[in-house]
Parts: sequence; structure tokens; C-alpha cells
Amino acid sequence: MTAATNEISPEYHDLIIIGAGPAGLAAGIYAARDKQDVVLLEKLSPGGQVLSTDLVENYPGFPEGIGGFELMDGIRKQAERFGLTILGHEVESVDFTGDVKHLFLNSGSMSALSVIAATGAQPRKVGIQGEALLTGKGVSYCGTCDGPFYRDAVVAVIGGGDTAVQEAIFLTRFASRVYVIHRRDELRATKIIQERAFANEKIKFLWDTVPISIQGESSVEDLKVRNVKSGEETTLNIEGVFVLVGTSPVTEFLKGAIGLDDQGFIKVDRRQETNIPGVFAAGDVTSETPRQIATAVGEGVTAVLNAEEYLEEQRG
Ligand SMILES: Cc1cc2nc3c(=O)[nH]c(=O)nc-3n(C[C@H](O)[C@H](O)[C@H](O)COP(=O)(O)OP(=O)(O)OC[C@H]3O[C@@H](n4cnc5c(N)ncnc54)[C@H](O)[C@@H]3O)c2cc1C
Repeated sequence: MTAATNEISPEYHDLIIIGAGPAGLAAGIYAARDKQDVVLLEKLSPGGQVLSTDLVENYPGFPEGIGGFELMDGIRKQAERFGLTILGHEVESVDFTGDVKHLFLNSGSMSALSVIAATGAQPRKVGIQGEALLTGKGVSYCGTCDGPFYRDAVVAVIGGGDTAVQEAIFLTRFASRVYVIHRRDELRATKIIQERAFANEKIKFLWDTVPISIQGESSVEDLKVRNVKSGEETTLNIEGVFVLVGTSPVTEFLKGAIGLDDQGFIKVDRRQETNIPGVFAAGDVTSETPRQIATAVGEGVTAVLNAEEYLEEQRG
């Protein structure tokens, strides 16, 4: 981290939002419409994780669903209509020690009185052959999002934690059979969730088993797995693979500057405020959030309204 300084850098704005996913863009719509001195910094193209999904069926207002790109393009345009400036920068480190917050970018620095971190999260990959190629074509990282596409299908869940087992149970509402592929001979999921899963006849556990490769041309056709004890390999004929081996928050650049939980997610209160006054966080990057587009949008709005209140107090 660069040495602490409380001077205002030439690039000063009252509010800086980091990340142009649903949370950051929703915050941006409100701030720009409220005529705040605000900019949004995004290291890639605006849109966030939603850009990697073809169809979103659970975001309110679209009875037939909406494409991921189309949804995010609309939200970005809505923000820009109110004059939101989106700059292509990556925030590499921060200094939140003074009243003025400093952001150090891939090129230059910026400062602000208030900051909203909306940098999202990344689902962890298993890194097997076919995973990248078939992502969005049968390989999914979100059962809640994509489960309804697998009516009467046979699917597999990779993972053994709470999320994996809960999502496996959820998937039985649609799929005819759900294999749970787990590398150990017992689950990490909490007891009550385990009991529910064991009682569900549609779920079949493959213990001591790891995935090796996913096959298919334009969609998933097979999943090859290996038993780590016997070495035996089996090919499962399935239509969907749900990789649920955890989520990593994008908070490396915030380490040491802000309160994080033991997995690195940002701890916030009900106002989306962090342990640093004036610094708010919203969306998938925060601790204990459902990690959905609608919740990210709601948290972004809560964060920005409270940031505006904070700015009002600071201005006296
Ligand atoms: C394949 C897939 C399908 C999904 N389908 C659905 C669905 O159907 N329905 C649903 O509700 N949810 C779905 N989700 C979940 C949903 O996408 C997320 O909950 C949502 O995108 C979270 O929004 P966010 O704004 O918090 O973060 P993100 O969408 O992750 O956006 C964060 C943004 O911050 C930027 N950023 C990160 N670090 C920096 C930095 N240091 N400097 C500048 N910019 C930075 C990133 O580039 C990114 O654009 C899906 C997720 C995936 C992966």
C-alpha cells in the first residue's frame, strides 16, 4: 500500500464507486440522478458476472427473462442517461486512514470523501478439461440461477459444503436425478442440511470421487469421474454440471484497509457501511449476502443512499 496521505489528489470526487456490476451500477444510477459528484471505476467492461450468463429468469420486470448482456447494457445506459461517468481503471490498493480516502489505480490515483466497494466475487473453478469451454452451455456456477433450465434432466453437483448440498436439494425440484460428487467420504455441510439431502431420493452421492473432464460439443453430454480410493473411472451421462466449490471475493486490493470476514468478504452493517466511516460495500463482495442480481441491486441502492447521507453530514 502507498504511504498514507490526507492531501486531496487532483482527481477528487465526493463519491467513488468501484465496480460496474449490478451493485455498482445501481448505486451509480441513484448518485448520478441525485446530481452527486460521482465517478465509477471498472477494470473490465461494465456488466460484471451477469455478462457470463445467457438468460436471467429471476430478475423482476422481465416475464420472459432477459439476456445477461441485454440486462446489464440497459442498466449501464440508464446510469449514463443521468450523466454517470464510468472510467476504465483498476483499483490496485487503497488508503482509508484519513477522512479523505485514496485509491491507487493501475495508472494514477484518485481521492474521495466516500467510497462504495462493489467489486463482486468469482465462483471458484475446478479446473478440469471442458469446464471453460462448456461454461454457460451446461456448466453452471449457480443452481438457484440455472436450475429451472434442467427440468427432468440428470445433473451433477461438484462440492460438499453447505452451498453445494443446499443447491443439490434445490435442483431436485427440477432434475430427475442429482449426483453429488464429493472428494471425501463425508460432507462438510451442516448436519441438518445433510439429513435433508440423505432423505431425498433424487440425490445420489458419489463419495471419494473427483471430476476429471466434461465432454460435449455444444452442450454438456458426459462427466468423467474417478474414485480416489479404487482409481476406478466412470462416465456419467448428464446434461448439467453445477460447480459449487466456493466463491472468492474480489478484495485483495482492500486487505489491511477494511474489516473482512475469515473468507475475505467485506463485513457490513444493515446500512451497507463497513468498519470505516464513509466506506460502504454492496453486492457479492459482502459477507453473508444471497449473491443474486436483485440483492446486489438492492444493496447498491442502500449503500448509495447512506453514502449520500454521510456526504451531507461531512459538508455540514
Ligand atoms: C454464470 C452465472 C450466472 C448467474 N446467473 C444469475 C441469475 O440468473 N440470476 C441472478 O440473480 N444472479 C445470477 N448470478 C449471480 C449474479 O451475477 C451476481 O450475484 C451479481 O452479478 C453480483 O453483482 P455485483 O455487482 O455484486 O458483482 P459483479 O457482478 O461481480 O461485478 C463486480 C464488478 O467489479 C469489477 N471490479 C472488480 N475488482 C475491481 C477493481 N479492483 N477495480 C475496478 N473494478 C473492479 C469487476 O470487473 C466487475 O465488473 C450468476 C452468476 C454467474 C457467475
